[in-house]
Amino acid sequence: MSRRVVVVGAGIAGSAAAFAAARAGAEVVVVHDRAGASALCSGALDLEAWDTDASGEVAARAQRALTDAELAAFLTALGAHRLGGTAPNGVIATASGVVRPACAADRALLDLAPLAGRRVAVADIERDDWDASLLAKAFGASAWAEHTGTTFTPVFVRLLRTGYERRIAPYDFAELHDDPARGAALADALNAAAPDVDAWLVGPWLGIQPDTVAAIRARARVPLGETTSLLAGAAGARFERARDRLFTELGVEVRRGRVGRVAARDASWALELAPDSDGAPGELAASAVVLATGGVGAGGIVFTWRLPGVVRGFELPFAAPVTLALDGESLGGGGSLYGPSLETKGLGALERVGIACDALGRPVGKNAAQMGLFVAGDAVAGRPRTMLGAALAGLASGNVAAGG
Ligand SMILES: Cc1cc2nc3c(=O)[nH]c(=O)nc-3n(C[C@H](O)[C@H](O)[C@H](O)COP(=O)(O)OP(=O)(O)OC[C@H]3O[C@@H](n4cnc5c(N)ncnc54)[C@H](O)[C@@H]3O)c2cc1C
Repeated sequence: MSRRVVVVGAGIAGSAAAFAAARAGAEVVVVHDRAGASALCSGALDLEAWDTDASGEVAARAQRALTDAELAAFLTALGAHRLGGTAPNGVIATASGVVRPACAADRALLDLAPLAGRRVAVADIERDDWDASLLAKAFGASAWAEHTGTTFTPVFVRLLRTGYERRIAPYDFAELHDDPARGAALADALNAAAPDVDAWLVGPWLGIQPDTVAAIRARARVPLGETTSLLAGAAGARFERARDRLFTELGVEVRRGRVGRVAARDASWALELAPDSDGAPGELAASAVVLATGGVGAGGIVFTWRLPGVVRGFELPFAAPVTLALDGESLGGGGSLYGPSLETKGLGALERVGIACDALGRPVGKNAAQMGLFVAGDAVAGRPRTMLGAALAGLASGNVAAGG
């Protein structure tokens, strides 16, 4: 009989764990409720925080990630991302005017690397959240543009059909272009606006369906792609759709709900789900459990104070036989009375706190009762908060959880 692996969380770590466990032959159930960091993502997929690349060491590690066959297989199966670009990394433009490398990216983002030395038009449209002139100036002044001789020029394009389109949410504006006629009109408008440019850089507007961008590109005369998305924009929406499609293809059972308790029961695990809308609590049994519940940003770890003025500290919002840690120090099972001081630890503590684990994602203090419990992604203490770091941890834990 195959093992039953329950993955808690459907961000990139939980998705990778489900992918690996399903491919290893396990019966997989994913439980998740609200959007986590992956569903809010920018579209850039890094292994290490990209802005720590002072020594070149990060680029070397990034290159290793690109050669990880299982990571490549996972991203290919998701079908919404490209690994790298022209070696060693792709180069992307962010929504805040920065040009930077990325190990991997949402396919809709423009890979600038092959456009080095060319003329890139930045679509100037009347959206309140988009300033093409300022962005073009910032991209053009970047070290990469100056080094490669690449130019960025704002070019007016009439894309908005109604006055309210200038201020609807970025998600809603992107969704308009999933309509094939509207997507085609976007490509036609770009073709007509500046026939002699080498590429078009647009905002995160190319649909919330992962396949929309290919249809628009097929009609455009030159390479065309997005900047990164701001929080809760098109890139995160496309990740969620690609993930849901992958779960269906893999035969993964998906339960929407909040896990309130994970407890060892004999040689297996029992998970309690918070009561659903009908008031009925659920229960799931598992041979192994992967906790991919995210960090503070996603609500997978919370900072609470229960008495007025008395900080209680970091807590997991569900019960499980694991310990939270910050900078190698255990924070105790249920949070100490005063908790760590953010004044001394700094706000970066919010990104370092997590479940104490060994290198294989097994909770520290593991004993016989904890066999078969794994942690992956932002839920792990002291790991870089990145999409590819989370995916690699998910793949590793999914494989081991399925193997027994
Ligand atoms: C503002 C911001 C910008 C970022 N920029 C980048 C970037 O440019 N490049 C990069 O590589 N990374 C970036 N990151 C980091 C990256 O997004 C995260 O490292 C990654 O998404 C973590 O994935 P995860 O699967 O571990 O967690 P998440 O994606 O947060 O997923 C957690 C999941 O757990 C579920 N969950 C939690 N508790 C429960 C429960 N009790 N019951 C059921 N389900 C539960 C949630 O519903 C969710 O599905 C950024 C993060 C933020 C917040």
